[in-house]
Amino acid sequence: MDIKVTNLTKRYGTQVAVDNISFEVKTGEVLGFLGPNGAGKSTTMKAITTYLDPDAGEVFIGSFSARRHADEVRRHIGYLPENNPLYTDMPVIDYLRFVAQLQGVPTPVIAERLLEMIRICGLEGEKHKRINELSKGYKQRVGLAQALIHNPDVLILDEPTTGLDPNQIAEIRDLIRRIGREKTVLLSSHILAEVEATCDRILIINKGRIVADGTAADLRRRSTGHDVVRVCIEDAPANEVFTALQALETVAVVDFSRDKAACLEVQSKPGTTSRREIFSLCTANNWVLTEMTPLETKLEDIFRELTLQ
Ligand code: ADP
Ligand code: MG
Repeated sequence: MDIKVTNLTKRYGTQVAVDNISFEVKTGEVLGFLGPNGAGKSTTMKAITTYLDPDAGEVFIGSFSARRHADEVRRHIGYLPENNPLYTDMPVIDYLRFVAQLQGVPTPVIAERLLEMIRICGLEGEKHKRINELSKGYKQRVGLAQALIHNPDVLILDEPTTGLDPNQIAEIRDLIRRIGREKTVLLSSHILAEVEATCDRILIINKGRIVADGTAADLRRRSTGHDVVRVCIEDAPANEVFTALQALETVAVVDFSRDKAACLEVQSKPGTTSRREIFSLCTANNWVLTEMTPLETKLEDIFRELTLQ
């Protein structure tokens, strides 16, 4: 089931939290919703899950409108809100049974669904404990189990790994990836490595607006715009090499490499590459070219570039 958001806007007083955004998530896709704190991620998710009425715009889950068919939409969505609110006095199994009943899971299949969720979310050892006795990672698994209990087609996960330790993060990511094969997943995070590790596509939001949409590779490609290679040249005077590289017609900037001694980073002018010229230069001077490696812009740089305004 697809998610379709069109021209969504939400204001709080004079503050525009979400500013006319549109995007789609296709069935089987895990979309990472990335942005700094206060960008509008949770607000968008609340509008998708019908917890909040937008000022303008439409949300569709499959053919159901969040505005007109809120009950249908809720039935098809599993939602793990920010801060994972749970009834912490309840034992895990009782809480999940309660959510299953609320979500209208037919009574005869509830027991079976509970067992399945406990298995999928790795809660066997914890199912009889009270929720407030669990570690944060296990609480998060209970949050995921409650979001999945009615077998929804669409999962909305708001910062699902916040506050977890690295092992717990790896486990939750793995779980989300596994679940994501069959469902439509929208996952928010302010951590870049997280969305890169878990998601097929990344949507970057800043100050309520979408500033980028694509795979990690797309974002890198779009941002670079110019070709950068690291070249390592041996048996040649460094200064002479530097000057000769700088004099090449296609070269924009030459810099000494930060991570490798005796190597240089050569950035070409937009729309060109200097690789052939560099090679020819070395052969003409009898310099030994031991390395020529294309350098990628780091996703962190792209994220900062897009969200630091
Ligand atoms: P994110 O989840 O990306 O951190 P939010 O969607 O929570 O961002 O918030 C977007 C903006 O809207 C922020 O500036 C936040 O302060 C504001 N905001 C969110 N919820 C409310 C609210 N209930 N009342 C007033 N302002 C809010
Ligand atoms: Mg948030």
